[in-house]
Amino acid sequence: MQKRLIVANWKMNPQTSTEAKELLVSVLSDASDFKNIELVICPPFVYFSSISAMIYDLSSKFQVSLGAQNMHWEQKGAFTGEISAQMLKEFGVEYVVEGHSERRWIMGETDEMINKKIKTALKSGLIPILAVGEKERNNFDSSGRHINTADDVVIDQLTRALDGVPVSKIKDVVIAYEPVWAIGTGLADNPDDALSVSLLIRKVISKMTDDKTARAIKILYGGSVNSKNIAEFLKQDGIDGALVGGASIDKDEFTRILEIVSSL
Ligand code: PEP
Repeated sequence: MQKRLIVANWKMNPQTSTEAKELLVSVLSDASDFKNIELVICPPFVYFSSISAMIYDLSSKFQVSLGAQNMHWEQKGAFTGEISAQMLKEFGVEYVVEGHSERRWIMGETDEMINKKIKTALKSGLIPILAVGEKERNNFDSSGRHINTADDVVIDQLTRALDGVPVSKIKDVVIAYEPVWAIGTGLADNPDDALSVSLLIRKVISKMTDDKTARAIKILYGGSVNSKNIAEFLKQDGIDGALVGGASIDKDEFTRILEIVSSL
């Protein structure tokens, strides 16, 4: 069975490097028991130096790697406050999240920027985790009829983000379906609906590449994942893992999530 990919997005947490180390130690203390999981920890950049060695040491026993929450598309230069792929690689970073909704909607990142970041990540040997998802759960037309915006938004974001990416490289991109209304709200999507978006993503990828790539590409669900709902998402054949925000900084809850995933 293919390992489940679990990505922990710590966002702008915790507040000190001591807490960051404690969180990692407590999450990883039982980690070698988690055989069918590939874990990616995405801490704030400033904690890389204190935790990258811990992750590296454990990676011989358990598949765990370091991920970044963002990066710039240029390699160097006058980009105040930004960080490059090369800088990430120096810390052993393997994955980078691109197009997270908090960056799209709070920092104003556009599809064009995300597209450039994906291309730079791939050229630099980093695995991009491309986040896509609709903002509103319910949309209605002028006569009050419900409109399914998820499909349109996901097709549009995916097409723009992958525009011009060499076909042979698309298989290396991980796609995270993250409905924005589900992120940090406690209102997770319905697993069946998440599965149908995942199938749609595979259809789009198949058109861009071929059926084999569309079947092989990794698709994650993200949005209020917790220990009560993770199993329902991952039991869906077509959802290969999860992107976990809030629950990944709660050590007991995250350990429970890993235990559940490990038992599936
Ligand atoms: C996220 O950060 O991408 C996320 C899904 O957050 P949460 O799990 O808190 O909804």
